[in-house]
Amino acid sequence: MIIRPEIGEDVTMEFASVAREMNKKNIDIISFGLGEPDFSTPKHIIDASKKALDKDPYRRYSNPLGLYELRKEISIREKRVNKNEINPENIIVTPGVKQALFLSLLSTLEPEDEIINFSPSYVCYIPDIYLAEPNAVIKNIKLKNDFTIDIDELKNNITDKTKVILINSPHNPTGKMISKIERDEIAKIAIEKNIYIISDEIYDLMCFSGKEHFGFGSINELKDLIITVNGFSKAYSMTGWRIGYAIAPAHLINTMRKIQLHTNTNTCGFIQMGAIEALRGNHSHLTKFNSELIEKVKIMTKYLSKDVMTSPTEGGFFSFLNISKTGLSSNAFSAQFIKECRVATSPGIAFGKEWDTHIRVSLIENVERFRKGIVKLASFISKYEKINKRI
Ligand code: PMP
Repeated sequence: MIIRPEIGEDVTMEFASVAREMNKKNIDIISFGLGEPDFSTPKHIIDASKKALDKDPYRRYSNPLGLYELRKEISIREKRVNKNEINPENIIVTPGVKQALFLSLLSTLEPEDEIINFSPSYVCYIPDIYLAEPNAVIKNIKLKNDFTIDIDELKNNITDKTKVILINSPHNPTGKMISKIERDEIAKIAIEKNIYIISDEIYDLMCFSGKEHFGFGSINELKDLIITVNGFSKAYSMTGWRIGYAIAPAHLINTMRKIQLHTNTNTCGFIQMGAIEALRGNHSHLTKFNSELIEKVKIMTKYLSKDVMTSPTEGGFFSFLNISKTGLSSNAFSAQFIKECRVATSPGIAFGKEWDTHIRVSLIENVERFRKGIVKLASFISKYEKINKRI
């Protein structure tokens, strides 16, 4: 097995575990590091899963694609949220969105294929691509300063070998959402050049800024080229349950099904029953979470200057902040900030080597603790800006 050097550790997890260790020693750490919502999995979901655990079939092997009932429910959800007409046979339920993503990459990439990745990107994308196909060629396209996509740059990087465009909106780590114009331009390129799009829409229920979410699944001409991945970790705070799904054309679903069949058999049955309840049940927890996100973005706008917060969070729960005026590398910044101010953040370099000028902040702490952390962040940046100017 070829493990390329790019397949490193997840640095965001490392900083989060430093914070957890300090918390264990009763040192109160404000957590801007982790990618997990602060609410617990809603009780009706837990109850549904517990109930299913009492029943024999949900403790046994089941269909590698996932329970039909759940796939049906996902297709209803996709119609409601994204106007996608999906046949349940085009859905595979997986242990987490990571696995849906990995199966998507495994089923599309061959040696020497080129894949477009927008940088910064979710920490697992590059490792997952190289694990799926060690001889894939990654074309990293740097997002503009306001985190929009440079469509000309994208066009310049398309060749006859481009197999996949990997995209995520709402975006981790920037909180940016793609516009309809960007979405349509990308779709047009994919259709013209026969390129797959893997669209990671894990944050599509966390759109709180008034901007509309534009997924790719509703574009009819893309039907044979689009793979949408999504799941339950964020919107229902089910990170540890490990459940997600991919929606894909039949030939790819068949490949994914075979991989799942021979490596994992199926996603756990009683967890799938919890996921059905998540989709059918009450979503009031999300209304609360999203309205708090609006509050938190207001707090950031109040305390952080525009050169630091170049683009306020539009969806999802991350913000990517420019710390270049402090003169610190992103690793040094995160290490010094947690040491001096007891606030955990993630260094930008974890999301792309061009982003050592940034840090990622998660908007997950409750509003009051969040405000406290942002006030500390603003004064920490201004302290190091002054030191940097003197040097
Ligand atoms: N995609 C993105 C953009 C993410 O932020 C995450 C989790 N942080 C995942 C995929 C993985 O999700 P899961 O935990 O369901 O595997």
